[in-house]
Amino acid sequence: MTTDYSRGLLLGATAADTTQSGLLKRLENTRVHVTAEPAVPAVAVALTILIGNLRRLPITISLDPTGLDEVTIDVLTEIALGIDPDKPIELTAVPAGLSIHLGPHPPPSAAISAAPDGHGVRLRRAGASYPALRASGTGLGSMMAAATLTAEIFKTIMGLKSGAYRRLDRLDFCPVTLTAEPGAVTTTITELPSLALVGAGAVGTAIAATLDVLGTVGQIIVVDPETYDAPNVTTYSLGNGTDARNQIPKVDLLARELTRAGRFDVLPLKGAAQDLITGIDQGHLRWPAVVLSGVDSINARHETQRIHADLTLDGSTGGHAGTTLALHEALPTGPCLRCYYPPRTTPAVPSAETLLHQRTGLSLSRIAKGDSLLIQADLDALPSTSRALLRPHLGKPVCGLSNLLALSPSATDGYRPSAAFVAQQAASLVIGALIARTTAKAVSPSRHIEYDARFGPNEAMADDRKPRPGCDCQTDQGLIQQIRRRRAAP
Ligand SMILES: [Zn+2]
Repeated sequence: MTTDYSRGLLLGATAADTTQSGLLKRLENTRVHVTAEPAVPAVAVALTILIGNLRRLPITISLDPTGLDEVTIDVLTEIALGIDPDKPIELTAVPAGLSIHLGPHPPPSAAISAAPDGHGVRLRRAGASYPALRASGTGLGSMMAAATLTAEIFKTIMGLKSGAYRRLDRLDFCPVTLTAEPGAVTTTITELPSLALVGAGAVGTAIAATLDVLGTVGQIIVVDPETYDAPNVTTYSLGNGTDARNQIPKVDLLARELTRAGRFDVLPLKGAAQDLITGIDQGHLRWPAVVLSGVDSINARHETQRIHADLTLDGSTGGHAGTTLALHEALPTGPCLRCYYPPRTTPAVPSAETLLHQRTGLSLSRIAKGDSLLIQADLDALPSTSRALLRPHLGKPVCGLSNLLALSPSATDGYRPSAAFVAQQAASLVIGALIARTTAKAVSPSRHIEYDARFGPNEAMADDRKPRPGCDCQTDQGLIQQIRRRRAAP
């Protein structure tokens, strides 16, 4: 079976405004060389995440084995082969292509490097120096270092146009405090509150992978209705080609990974949030204190909110290229997920015209002139991906394009651009918020955080949210409290 790189290529091609075939050719000719300082705390863990992230791109990877023990090398080799058996990592100390490094003492050949510091990351381009690290890196620091270093590699090798990204010469960031002072706060959770993870997709697997390396213990219910499929291998943070061939339920994959180290008590529930709610109300499932949400539709978020947990932390990715990521902190007293995602006022099923507009960028007013034929001038202002899509249909009436392009709501829903390193940054914000809100004495207002992984974390990314007037969480407060009291009763 050939590894399916389609969704990552879709994300990359959209971000770089090029064709997927052109990008594939470019990446197949790209080599990334990795060096690391495994003696630095959390670097070895970051290396396992980084190698997985890089192997999810159709590039050549070489790894300098200096300082790595045989077990680590075997683990890294296996991770890479599990994702693409046709592209083993090459072991060599000779740098070639783009050299990158994990640890605070990069060799002169390294173009980009990153080091975990506490829960956060310090990242540097060649020429920018590191301060002394403030703290030992944690699992969250490992995840943040691997995810942001992958983002810088992505920006460097994808051929993004200027203006479509921000090259970070240095990044200092802590996903717990949201400050540029990683390592300043190192409080961690020794035992997690009872958790439910709803959604085991790109964000859900990244959340699980972060929990796994956090070194904490706890009970967790994992909820998802789907099975693991071939395109997931290159976009999720967990799972491999064998899991895809076996069509393993996503909840079973997460249960396997989270129980491997013996720290988690995992209950897999193959279903949706409503099945968890039914189980709680019938008395055979425990009501979780905290819900971590990685679902990908507004309806699923509304359903997740109806668990009415003390705290709901929703991580998401999206945007035109799939590189935008966000965290929504939701409370049963508001702001709730319905405050963040108000119910749609437009029909839930988009029209053929809307789909054509979303997929191609043709304006709705142009699409309205359905009888007139598609001409070159229609294509000129569009991104190259849209031009490539529409070019074969020049001379045909616009009204028939939806059928010709086989656009349907399910077709576009199932084919979103996606990349593990974007979901991992969303997951880092989720786990950062979990640490902040379960260990901090003063609880801050609910935060909405959003940024584009092509630009990185920035000062404008966070805003405090208040409940939306008229939202169910405000008008039905008495009912919600009644439900919460009943679910809390032994
Ligand atoms: Zn609300």
